Amino acid sequence: MPSISLACGCAAAVLVSGRAWMGGVAVQGRGPIVPPDPSRPARGEPTSGVRDRLDRPLRDLRVSVTDRCNFRCPYCMPKELFGHDHAFLPRAEILSFEEITRVVRAAASLGVTKVRLTGGEPLVRRDLERLVAMLAAVEGIRDLALTTNGTLLAGKARALREAGLSRVTVSLDSLDEDVFRAMNDRGVPLARVLEGIAAAHKAGLWPVKLNTVVKRGVNDHGLVDLARFARANGLIVRFIEYMDVGTTNGWRLDDVVPAAEVIRRIDAELPLEPAEPNYRGEVARRWRFRDGRGEIGVIASVTQPFCRDCARARLSTDGKLYTCLFAGAGHDLRVLLRQGASNEELRAALARIWRGRVDRYSELRAALSPTTDRIEMSYIGG
Ligand code: SAM
Repeated sequence: MPSISLACGCAAAVLVSGRAWMGGVAVQGRGPIVPPDPSRPARGEPTSGVRDRLDRPLRDLRVSVTDRCNFRCPYCMPKELFGHDHAFLPRAEILSFEEITRVVRAAASLGVTKVRLTGGEPLVRRDLERLVAMLAAVEGIRDLALTTNGTLLAGKARALREAGLSRVTVSLDSLDEDVFRAMNDRGVPLARVLEGIAAAHKAGLWPVKLNTVVKRGVNDHGLVDLARFARANGLIVRFIEYMDVGTTNGWRLDDVVPAAEVIRRIDAELPLEPAEPNYRGEVARRWRFRDGRGEIGVIASVTQPFCRDCARARLSTDGKLYTCLFAGAGHDLRVLLRQGASNEELRAALARIWRGRVDRYSELRAALSPTTDRIEMSYIGG
């Protein structure tokens, strides 16, 4: 394994080499890392499904299981606005695991094959593995993933895998201890997340991906370190353009590092070439290292919007269905669930919502006037 301590010289490197980390070699020996194609039904599954007004199918459902998080990343849940007095959702308003499973079942019957659990921080929700087991049993769901900040992953990875989770994405904004602590704004040490990543890897939650939100002048000096770290350890890092989700993060276009610049900067040190998407509608654009040792991705929702292929809906913690990350309002499914709607009625409601969908906020961003009614990412699920 290439010694990351030599290559990167960061705090993570010490941890990596000092603990014999997971080792890129073993992972690379498993062959190419290709996630299942959630846009294509598996053999024997119905190919029909619901389409929206722009002819986009519904394939992907993100489920926010909690609006709480143990981080206070300034770009997502700034602590000034999500302080001790912040009113998080009361328990009674949060969907139960049984209610979530009903919605997922209805969505699967309309074409959803991929479900991602998110939040808030999904691992702060108690007994999440019970929900994982329930969703893994839903017919048609072929890819069940989790996005987490990784702080609680070391203690949970095995149970999640055993319950039927397919894979995890861990958010990791920097390998620099000071930057990492500043970006989570809770003083959580980097080592804790690295341990979570290692545990996920050991548990077989492959491919483990990393999400890095890039903010100019904050963590963009560490992009190459992250790319080196990921490839040395058989991980796929995806660099995300800082987005104008919600209304609390004080987003400015100047803070965005365009994906093209990210690629240019990494390519200068670690030569890259474009790679084909794994499936239509894949959010990250893939780039592989020219030496064949891994890949990275960029998610360019600000500079290269991908609305035309967006097949994704989001279910908020309190049961509202959103058809766009930048939507101002959702469709209340909880009221249906709690008023005794049948499975068929729930399915029909979902189909009606999707058929009416016209959202393409990112493509229209520049032409739209600023709005104050966008929901927060921590509530709708990232
Ligand atoms: N707590 C989990 C985590 O940290 O991964 C899941 C929820 S978090 C909202 C999901 C993802 O959204 C994270 O990778 C986070 O970095 C990303 N995110 C949050 N706010 C963002 C923003 N303004 N722009 C781009 N990505 C953002």
